[in-house]
Amino acid sequence: MNQDQPIERGTRNEHEMLTGAERLSVEDLRRALEQRDQALALSRQNLQMAERVIDASQEGIIITDPSGVIEYVNPAFCQVTGYSAEEAIGRTPALLSSGRHDAVFYRQMWHELDTHGYWRGEIWNRRKGGALYLERLTITAIGDDDGKVTHYAALFTDITLIRENEERVRRLAYYDPLTRLPNRRLLEDRLALAIRHAHRQQQGLAVIFIDLDHFKQVNDTLGHAVGDELLLQVAERLQERLREDDTLARLGGDEFLALLPELHDVEEVTRVARRLIEAIGQPFAVGDHSFRVGCSLGISLYPADGTSADALVRSADTAMYRAKREGRNTYRLFRAEMNDHDSRLLALESALRDTVESGEGLAVHYQPLVNRDSGEVEGAEALVRWHHPAFGDVSPGVFVPMAERSGLIIPLGRWVMEEVAGQLRQWRQAGLNPPRVAINLSASQFWQRDLVEQIRRLFARFALPPGQIGFELTESVLLDRQQEAVAVLEALRELGCRLAIDDFGTGYSSLSYLQDLPLTTLKVDRRFVQRLTGDEGERRGSAAIVAAVTGLAQELGLRVVAEGVETEAQLEALSRYPVTLIQGYLTGRPVDAETFAECYLQQG
Ligand code: C2E
Ligand code: CA
Ligand code: CA
Repeated sequence: MNQDQPIERGTRNEHEMLTGAERLSVEDLRRALEQRDQALALSRQNLQMAERVIDASQEGIIITDPSGVIEYVNPAFCQVTGYSAEEAIGRTPALLSSGRHDAVFYRQMWHELDTHGYWRGEIWNRRKGGALYLERLTITAIGDDDGKVTHYAALFTDITLIRENEERVRRLAYYDPLTRLPNRRLLEDRLALAIRHAHRQQQGLAVIFIDLDHFKQVNDTLGHAVGDELLLQVAERLQERLREDDTLARLGGDEFLALLPELHDVEEVTRVARRLIEAIGQPFAVGDHSFRVGCSLGISLYPADGTSADALVRSADTAMYRAKREGRNTYRLFRAEMNDHDSRLLALESALRDTVESGEGLAVHYQPLVNRDSGEVEGAEALVRWHHPAFGDVSPGVFVPMAERSGLIIPLGRWVMEEVAGQLRQWRQAGLNPPRVAINLSASQFWQRDLVEQIRRLFARFALPPGQIGFELTESVLLDRQQEAVAVLEALRELGCRLAIDDFGTGYSSLSYLQDLPLTTLKVDRRFVQRLTGDEGERRGSAAIVAAVTGLAQELGLRVVAEGVETEAQLEALSRYPVTLIQGYLTGRPVDAETFAECYLQQG
């Protein structure tokens, strides 16, 4: 800054003032000059003071020219960034860039500066040594009297530590320090969130209250260190048995709580509960000690057992106490009738397991598929039957889904295939010329890695001609993995198998994807067939669907089966559509093998 200039100008003013001497005395002039000198001294003092403040400031300060080239940095800048003034001056603040912010971020920052002359925010930068730090930054544009920007001044504070402390405080507030699991507070937050989600999506969710049995004994006899280690191991085992989206929390002491979102079925949660009990029932080893503890579980379900986080936790707690009272190392559902339902299901499942192992009580029934025009039996569907000495006849509508959920469907399905293959061989050996038989395949059966190989071997072992056995699949089996499905279907087609889409119209019913699949048959679900003779509204909707589906199937060269035809009226209603085969009580109920042979098979 040139300090002589104003004085020079002042001298010239002196002249001007002297020529107008009639208005200003010399005395006035002297006073004016004195005032000016004082003002100058003051501003110089102010400047020095400002410089000292800037130098001593705890905040880092950068001053750049309008193009962003650094002209000045203060010592705090050097301390935080690790760069000396010499290293920084002449460069731009990009020197500190962490790479953590994208171009949009900086563009917005400049936009703010241009329009408001001011920007404040948090920004990640990098120290000379490479370490990242978070700073709270204020940038001000400094303009001259005409409003033109002459400098930018940036003030920043390193808030990395503050943020880390906040994070630590947050962890203390929301997580259990021993197990690092969410604590009650965080759990309640998440539960409230999950409830809102479940409400929107019309889904269920479950809360499992978990309380260790005899934990106090371990703590009292072996000490708190062992108790703590035990809790850690318990937390780990529980976590391993839960699904990825489930939340496990520690409420305190030996109480844990699991939150299971997106629940479709009570069985899903009781299955998890049994897994947890099994896991905690295994012996624990802590130091030299080896011991067993058990746990009691209480389950509550949204929305039936509570619609708030609080209510659900309370219901689960109540159910847990019932589990403790009724023998420990077990679980209870909040509602008593659910327990009855659950124990019946459990008993049924265990009976099914025994049945599938021995094959005793299982049978396959056969239902004819009849050609609509010729009346000839062109095929049969194999339908599994289960008779249990205590439960009586159990509907496949009950035990097939149960087998699917428990994994029993694989051995059950294998049993069905062998049974059907054996039956076909026997009929063939007796010269009975059986028709093709279709077997239902569930998703997990279809996706067995060796399915095609299994079937190839089955054909060979029972000396069946190609295509003697075919399969029925629902759309949902194929939908997600269409590409892979095509490969399996094609391999089955090479074995001569007929492949039908079952229950068509009940699932996604995507007509367009059908044409990409190597299928032979489409089965229109019996609901549509039955609605064809229902009331006016039903009739119209159903007729439109049947017309579209059968029309498309015909175009794709698929045979169409109408399922569940029970009456002449239904058969009559179907006469308008290109249906090839009829399957239903009208043309033949599912019957055992012997009856089937008697009624539908002929010598030769
Ligand atoms: P699905 O594949 O739709 O089988 C046809 C069902 O319709 C059978 O019920 C059959 O008895 C019934 N049905 C046949 N004609 C009529 C009729 O005119 N009216 C009425 N109302 N119903 C008729 P089912 O035998 O109870 O089988 C139920 C389901 O269980 C089957 O439905 C199938 O999805 C499954 N299933 C049966 N056997 C097996 C099997 O061996 N393996 C697999 N994975 N699933 C099977
Ligand atoms: Ca079927
Ligand atoms: Ca069906």
